[in-house]
Amino acid sequence: MSTICVIGTGYVGLVTGTCLADMGNHVTCVDIVPEKIEYLKRGILPIYEPGLEELVERNVEAGRLHFTTSYDEGLDNSEYIFVAVNTPTGTSQGGADMSYVEKAARSIAEKLDHYAIIINKSTVPVGSGDVVSRIIHSSLKRPDVSFSVVSNPEFLREGSAVLDFQHPDRVVLGSADKEAAQQVALLYLPLRANIVITDLYTAEMIKYASNAFLATKISFINEIAQICERLGADVKEVAVGMGYDKRIGRAFLDAGLGYGGSCFPKDVRALAHMADEAGLHPQLLHAVMEINHDQRRLIISKLTAILGSLRGCTIGVLGLAFKPNTDDMREAPSVDIIRWVTSQGAKVRVYDPIAAETGRAALERAEVRLDDVHFCKGAYEVAESADALVLVTEWNEFKSLNMAQLRAAMRRPVLIDGRNIYEAAEMNQLGFIYRGMGRGTSPAPTVLPAGDTSSKIEDVQQSTLDLKVAK
Ligand code: NAD
Repeated sequence: MSTICVIGTGYVGLVTGTCLADMGNHVTCVDIVPEKIEYLKRGILPIYEPGLEELVERNVEAGRLHFTTSYDEGLDNSEYIFVAVNTPTGTSQGGADMSYVEKAARSIAEKLDHYAIIINKSTVPVGSGDVVSRIIHSSLKRPDVSFSVVSNPEFLREGSAVLDFQHPDRVVLGSADKEAAQQVALLYLPLRANIVITDLYTAEMIKYASNAFLATKISFINEIAQICERLGADVKEVAVGMGYDKRIGRAFLDAGLGYGGSCFPKDVRALAHMADEAGLHPQLLHAVMEINHDQRRLIISKLTAILGSLRGCTIGVLGLAFKPNTDDMREAPSVDIIRWVTSQGAKVRVYDPIAAETGRAALERAEVRLDDVHFCKGAYEVAESADALVLVTEWNEFKSLNMAQLRAAMRRPVLIDGRNIYEAAEMNQLGFIYRGMGRGTSPAPTVLPAGDTSSKIEDVQQSTLDLKVAK
């Protein structure tokens, strides 16, 4: 059993601390936000993550997991100190904001009174491990105390963070002090994962390169989707056909609204910034970002191609979170879409199974007029008198809706499927005017007038069928 301190109780820190406690270690989690710690002490989690609440409860009860705002308490006897604080985009050029990591390093230095291994889990620019070492050296309260710094980037995904931590594809450890890295490897041995031990800079780069590669796959398939749509191919089937190729793989080939969340957008930006700063010209990374930005704009063009002006329309939005199984709203496409739609004079009705509260806060931060947004209790309520529905987050419950009931509740039967979860033929049969992302079976844009549109709808369906036959 080891004594561990985890700094930061967000998605990464809380999951790391809890899972390490569940492996039998004694863990103290430190956060600077007193309300978070107060909630955690009362068993209330500040984030939603499947399976985490039960795990926290079990380990708190077993006396292995503690929460505090005090670094003194957290560092007391700690052999390992994990840093899992946020590193958002900080500069207008996209560089990472290192102030939280730097502040954590200074707080560690002020309290550290024994040898410890400081393990950086935050995603940080290449070379940050050295920066942390320098900060700690220069602010150590007790200059005779020694320490080692190890980079241990985290690869868990929100929505399956606990399982990802417990069953990682690999654990990456980088340090100038190989013994310290091996010492950290011992902590992970029970997970029976592949462990890669390398130098500090390489470990830091592995994280950025991995996220940038996954983002590239998403932007790649989204570009293919646009070509498919124009040429009459179906990107969903293209992805299936591509995915069987072992060199390519099926993962991250889902065309849609593009990537969002707390990692891919900021990490691709930060990597491009690092390359720019180094005098390079990272063309691919810039293209990945540009494609991703344009992808969510497509929703507006799809809506206006069918409805004409959005002024006075009611647009139903299914899903707010940047992906299913999380309440995280950071860089969620829903925010941009709702902002653009309301700025064109439409009202929005919206429902998300988990992210209503965080979604409301995110919309407020984005200066969306909340008077224009009605939060509903379910998908059927969203559909009531809507001129169009936009599926933004592919929550499982949206996959099993009674679509006929949904359609019956709407004023105009327009369905924009931002995640390609519905089948075009089925939706057309139900009377929807269906548009997916990169489903080339869609007919040419049709402007539908308000009011009774049944004959128009049949025309559209017929041309859809014609296109299918012509394929
Ligand atoms: P988060 O914003 O959810 O949590 C960060 C926590 O750190 C917050 O609770 C904040 O109050 C706390 N904090 C900030 N400064 C502090 C300080 N000086 N002392 C103590 N606590 C402090 O962030 P997150 O999503 O958990 O991400 C953390 C890091 O992990 C980031 O660098 C991120 O890029 C990386 N990462 C995130 C994910 C993910 O899916 N969220 C996955 C892999 C890696």
